[in-house]
This record gives sequence, C-alpha cells and structure tokens, in this order.
Amino acid sequence: MSGKIIVIDLEATCWEGNPPPGEISEIIEIGICVLDQATGVIDKNRGILIKPVHSAISPFCTQLTTITPDLIGKEGISFEEALHILGKEYQAGQHAWASYGMYDKNMLQKQCALRHIPYPMHHKHINVKELFRQVTRIPRKVGMSQALDILGYPLQGTHHRGGDDAFNIARILRYCLNHSEAAIE
Ligand code: AMP
Ligand code: MG
Repeated sequence: MSGKIIVIDLEATCWEGNPPPGEISEIIEIGICVLDQATGVIDKNRGILIKPVHSAISPFCTQLTTITPDLIGKEGISFEEALHILGKEYQAGQHAWASYGMYDKNMLQKQCALRHIPYPMHHKHINVKELFRQVTRIPRKVGMSQALDILGYPLQGTHHRGGDDAFNIARILRYCLNHSEAAIE
C-alpha cells in the first residue's frame, strides 16, 4: 500500500418522493477523511456543510440526516468555497479518492457541470461498494451499514452524516486494501 486516499461521502437535499416543483437535489454536506495507505491511519474526519441554492432542507431530509435548516444557516458555506477547501487543504486533484457506490461521484460531477465549476477530483476513483464485493466474494453489493455488519465493525457516529459516513467507509476501504493484493496508486 502507498499514498493517501481521500474518502468522500455526500449528503444532499431529499424528499420522500420527487423534489417539489422548482427544486432539485443539491449537495448539503461533503464528508471527508483521508486514509494513509502506508500507515492505515484515517485522518481529518470532517463534514463541510453547504447552503443549497435551488432547494430547501425538508423535514424528511432532517429526519434522515439530522441536518437542520438552522444548522445550515449557521455553518453552511457555498459549494464553490467547499470545493476550494477540497483543492487547497486536501489536494483533491492529486490523490486517488473513494466513495461507497457511484452516487457521490455522479452527484459531484453533475453539480459542478450545472454550476460551471471545474470538477476538483482526481480521475482515479475507487468504488468501495464494488471493491468490498470483490474482496469478500459476496454474491451482490451491500449497503455501507451491512458491510460494517459483515466485518463485525460497529457503525461509528451518526449514519447519513457525511463526516461519519466517510470515516466508516474509510474503515471498510482499509479492510479491503489489507485483504487484497492491490495498492491504489
Ligand atoms: P447516504 O450517504 O447514504 O447518507 O445518502 C446520501 C444522500 O442520498 C442523502 O443525503 C439523501 O439525499 C439521499 N438518500 C439516502 N437515503 C435516502 C432515502 N432513504 N430516501 C431519500 N433519499 C435518500
Ligand atoms: Mg452519507
């Protein structure tokens, strides 16, 4: 194993069904932590809260994520500022990155395109959901909490909060890297 991998988990505005007329699902939290492949240390577990501009935090969204309109009002920054942090503090363009499934990569690409902001991430993306299936040889892909159950790892923190999800995903990724030949360059 070598190098650092940035683990990302996004939270977004959501509703029980489709968005209300005029609203779209937008990123409201970028959860992030860094896995050092050489040492196995998971560092900088953090959630960057983001103010949505084309949608509101619904009661359903608060119920799922614990993120309230009040919290976003107090601590949220713009999507542009959040991406700036990824580039400056995490050198996101220079390290491989990982997420659980393809949702986070697709969402990030879509929102960057919509806002005409350069996509900040490295081209090397690891789908931890798929990697976990391969390494454990289970017949089908499972959700993050089920993967933790399979490993006997208690879920740490609050499920559906970006920072905590990113940390738990990093633990699954570390298991995968320790149980496969591949190092991620
Ligand atoms: P997660 O990383 O599993 O916390 O999910 C990321 C985002 O997907 C959430 O912030 C929601 O926008 C959406 N999402 C996840 N689960 C649900 C659900 N059961 N119903 C609606 N949206 C969801
Ligand atoms: Mg999440």
